[in-house]
Parts: sequence; structure tokens; C-alpha cells
Amino acid sequence: MIVVMIIFGLLAAFFAYWILHEVIQSAIDNSAMARNIQEIRDHLVGKTVEQPQTAGGEEHENCPGCGHLVHKSDRACANCGLALRDSD
Ligand SMILES: [Zn+2]
Repeated sequence: MIVVMIIFGLLAAFFAYWILHEVIQSAIDNSAMARNIQEIRDHLVGKTVEQPQTAGGEEHENCPGCGHLVHKSDRACANCGLALRDSD
């Protein structure tokens, strides 16, 4: 009878630990997911709000990454940091 009680006790302890672990893990996942969703939403909102500027002349072009107007001599986009050309 004592053996059965010990086994039940161990099972209960393991089960409690497992539930606690799952709850904590899901809470961590949820916060990480919420943060990712926030970032994606900010990214999408930023993309839609910020209208891509059109290139006005020979000196300028649009960044292939974000559409930001960049000077042709720029090596990287000032807006998103994308490398526009290889440094030589
Ligand atoms: Zn860019």
C-alpha cells in the first residue's frame, strides 16, 4: 500500500512539474510570438504608410529593398541599410 502511495506521489509531482513547465513554456512562446507579431505589424504599417518615392533623375534611384530614394553614389540605403553596390 505504501508503494502505491509513493508511486502516486511521484506521478503527482511529475504531473505538477510537467504542467508548470508547459505553462511557463507557453507563456514564453506567447510573449515571443506577440513580439514577432508586433514587429511584423509595425513593418507592414510602415510599408503601407511610407509611400515609395519615385526616382527624380539620373542621380537618384530607388532602393530595391525598401523603395527609399537613394543617391546613386550611396553604397548603402540610408533607410534600411541594404548594400546597394560593392565597395571598390
Ligand atoms: Zn532601403
